[in-house]
Amino acid sequence: MADPLLKVSGLNAWYGESHILHGVDFEVGKGELVTLLGRNGAGKTTTLKAIMGIVGKRTGQIRFEGQELAGSTSDIIARAGIAYCPEERGIFSSLNVEENLMLPPVVKPGGVTVEEIYTLFPNLLERRRSQGTKLSGGEQQMLAIGRILRTGASMLLLDEPTEGLAPVIVQRIGEVIRQLKTRGFTVLLVEQNFRFAATIADRHYIVEDGRVVDMVVAADVERSIDKLHDYLGV
Ligand code: ATP
Repeated sequence: MADPLLKVSGLNAWYGESHILHGVDFEVGKGELVTLLGRNGAGKTTTLKAIMGIVGKRTGQIRFEGQELAGSTSDIIARAGIAYCPEERGIFSSLNVEENLMLPPVVKPGGVTVEEIYTLFPNLLERRRSQGTKLSGGEQQMLAIGRILRTGASMLLLDEPTEGLAPVIVQRIGEVIRQLKTRGFTVLLVEQNFRFAATIADRHYIVEDGRVVDMVVAADVERSIDKLHDYLGV
């Protein structure tokens, strides 16, 4: 890739004494939708956390728009334009939908407005005064994604947005992610749900034992299906 938006090279990460990532390499082009696939415990979430600077220790290179971020704090990384939507969603139960939406600081101009977020997720408009905990799993996920769009980030790291959701909601999340790509967002998606990932992503990286071991482009998924099933244990 000539000039990727994000280039991760030789990324190592630790939680305390546990060495989890052992030289992760991959890149994401501007406007691409790329997944990290792999079995439980392979290191996908840790890769997102290492990019965001929220693991115990990390080494290697994380170049984003030409800026080196591996030595930066999570605050600087967010201000560079990377936003992270964690698997556990992080919705504050004591706040209502709109208060949750307004929570993350705007780090760059040009973020999606609250009105636009409500257009993208009409359910959230209906429930804007409802407390975070009163929402369904799907609504919480939409709120978690909507919330990071306001920040002005251009790159979204989404950790298993479909986990635990009904098929119809998974489909809706897929539509939204596609719309985000159309709007010019670059998306790095961690997924266990390969069938879902295959419907939306441009490319897939396979993570195994804290390393990227393979890459499959969308056009090759069909002919690589046996290999992918082996990697994912499905
Ligand atoms: P999953 O879908 O199960 O989350 P994953 O590929 O995202 O899989 P990670 O969550 O990155 O995997 O976990 C990679 C390894 O790091 C696992 O062995 C896990 O037990 C370990 N690990 C994760 N979080 C911590 C932590 N806070 N402290 C110590 N070890 C951790």
